Amino acid sequence: MNPTAVVTGASRGIGLAIAEALSQAGYFVVGTATTQAGADRFSQRMAEQGQGYVLNLGDPLSIDAFTDALKADHDAPCILVNNAGITQDNLAMRMKPTEWNAVINTNLNGVFHLTQTFIRGMMKAKFGRIINISSVVGRMGNPGQINYAAAKAGLEGFTRALGAELASRNITVNAIAPGFIATDMTDALSPEQQAKMLERIPAARLGQPKEVADLVQFLSSDAAGYITGETIAINGGLYMS
Ligand code: NAP
Repeated sequence: MNPTAVVTGASRGIGLAIAEALSQAGYFVVGTATTQAGADRFSQRMAEQGQGYVLNLGDPLSIDAFTDALKADHDAPCILVNNAGITQDNLAMRMKPTEWNAVINTNLNGVFHLTQTFIRGMMKAKFGRIINISSVVGRMGNPGQINYAAAKAGLEGFTRALGAELASRNITVNAIAPGFIATDMTDALSPEQQAKMLERIPAARLGQPKEVADLVQFLSSDAAGYITGETIAINGGLYMS
């Protein structure tokens, strides 16, 4: 029986590439989408190597329903990739509380709630890998994204504190901070915004989802067992800290 890995937001973009990389590494991959149709598409795509579930990280009831269903169907996961994330951009002066709360609830509160439910199983197994997908914006900042930047910076602090709590249990906790990666999230930018963005990237191209997935695969491997609490940048030189 292959060990179980959970990837949130696995229906497309970076999450789908991560799910495929972990499946190639020998994991049974549980991937989430916000709709049943997305979850079914994931199940079909992964065939015997994975299964899709519905999860809305902004809704604690949905998180509970997902973790209950997972417990009934599969072994406790030893890999958790907190990949799902949303943006709701606006300048600070215009940002509505609903925009602030949606991003903090989904990108930060939901990650806490979900991660907490898996820690006990990893402790029992004496092995675990928790990988949080942050963003260059968590460190660099970006006008129009105070909610997103706050959530991602919070996620990096969460990574360090949880890494310190769990290191002696052979559970590592790390974050990856991508720059601009070619997915629906960056497709949503206007051509002018995309051109401006490219000008700022020393590598002069967007990153590919597979490049992030390869780093997840490394961090989840035995070879990365002594790395914890870190945030690793993957941004083509956009921001060097
Ligand atoms: P994406 O293409 O927009 O895909 C987002 C994924 O998250 C989808 O699977 C989506 O499911 C799921 N999702 C959306 N709302 C959700 C919710 N409320 N609860 C649970 N899942 C939800 O995103 P991406 O570009 O691959 O980004 C993945 C991660 O990388 C995010 O955390 C993002 O912040 C981070 N990141 C991306 C970039 C970039 O340039 N793309 C850069 C830095 C960091 P549905 O398909 O059902 O909507």
